Amino acid sequence: MASAHMNAPNQYDVAVVGAGIVGMVSAAIFSRAGARVCIIDPSLDWHAPHGPVALRNYAIAPGAQRLLQELGAWSKLDLHRLGSFNALEVWDAQSAGEIGFAPPASYDGAMGWIVEHQNLLAALSGPVADCTAIRGALGTLELSQPNRITLADGAQVQARLVIGADGANSPVRNAAGIDCRRHSYRQHAWVANVVTSEAHGNVARQRFLDSGPLAFLPLADPHHSSIVWSCTDPLHGQLDSLDDDAFAARLGEAFEQRLGVVTSVSARVAHPLERLHAQAWSKDCCALIGDAAHVVHPLAGLGLNLGIMDAVALSQCLTPIAPTAQWPRRSALRRYERWRKSEALRLGSVIDVLQHLFSERSPLPYAVRGLGMRLTAGSTRLTRRLSEYAMGTRGDLPSLPANADR
Ligand SMILES: Cc1cc2nc3c(=O)[nH]c(=O)nc-3n(C[C@H](O)[C@H](O)[C@H](O)COP(=O)(O)OP(=O)(O)OC[C@H]3O[C@@H](n4cnc5c(N)ncnc54)[C@H](O)[C@@H]3O)c2cc1C
Repeated sequence: MASAHMNAPNQYDVAVVGAGIVGMVSAAIFSRAGARVCIIDPSLDWHAPHGPVALRNYAIAPGAQRLLQELGAWSKLDLHRLGSFNALEVWDAQSAGEIGFAPPASYDGAMGWIVEHQNLLAALSGPVADCTAIRGALGTLELSQPNRITLADGAQVQARLVIGADGANSPVRNAAGIDCRRHSYRQHAWVANVVTSEAHGNVARQRFLDSGPLAFLPLADPHHSSIVWSCTDPLHGQLDSLDDDAFAARLGEAFEQRLGVVTSVSARVAHPLERLHAQAWSKDCCALIGDAAHVVHPLAGLGLNLGIMDAVALSQCLTPIAPTAQWPRRSALRRYERWRKSEALRLGSVIDVLQHLFSERSPLPYAVRGLGMRLTAGSTRLTRRLSEYAMGTRGDLPSLPANADR
């Protein structure tokens, strides 16, 4: 139920700053729970994708997929453009260690999907149809009740709750005076779509090289994969200087030709990799979600999945939406912060340990690394548990609040 005094133009219950996937999910949930919501972003582009599969895509785990389905977004995706995988193979370049992950026998869906950013945005445009979309960048933010937002073009918005879903460099976080810890991995991740001579068979694969992990994620075409090649700065520099044919040859070699020859590579981009953790996830009546709160290494493909869970957890803590000046309660915002901050810290630390163990700076000799992987592979219980965490079906999981009666 929207608050009575928040019905004037430019007055909202919730202002979501940042219309990436996490912001869109958050706006959709609060809107469905009955809040008057605005979404602010300088680039509001929700057209459906067409042509070749774009480079910006994500592995979506079943935990997040289920939430997108409940929100009504999953069925709106262009399903022909989705890749999916039923198994995950991980191996170490320096030892014989190899682990295969599969979903539990009781589960008959995919272990994950590869979905384009634009496909997800277009699918989420339906669930946010009742929100006001404001094209513009955050200028200043005055934390008060209600919060006062001034956009870069001078327009003003008031909202009882401000949600910072504005990415790793979050202007909301900065404007709220929340510090964050940033640590560079001194790696870049090359992202490209490639064609291989052998079919991927709907298996996601990752090889741990000393210079960083290399993942091949299956796209809809059986011979097409999306690659994420994380590499230390010297290798990144070498790869940067290669033409497409030389890059394809180097990529096939680095992947031990597990999918045969890499016959073609799309345009490619490299992202600098860092770990980020906001010191606080809320302040007064403002909360951070997604990359604004945490950035983790992409080796587990979980950053966006975590952000979607933040959006759901925040709404779970803050609903029902009371039409009184006491909403949102600080105690509820603190509950959200305690819950999700510890989850993200735990997961980020596990990912960092893995990243470090398999890197050239690893304290473990190769033989010990291989033995560890073989022991893990031999333990059905352990691999099942790890699969469940990767699939987002284990842990303290949030659930969507009920639809408001409209
Ligand atoms: C190479 C690589 C591969 C990855 N693969 C995966 C994967 O397979 N699976 C996975 O789960 N995660 C993956 N991730 C992580 C994932 O990309 C991020 O976690 C996710 O994109 C974060 O989404 P977000 O909506 O929080 O932020 P963003 O996507 O960064 O969106 C932020 C939004 O805020 C807007 N904005 C910025 N400034 C302002 C402003 N001043 N005012 C208003 N709006 C503003 C921007 O326009 C943007 O729309 C990967 C990351 C990398 C680097």
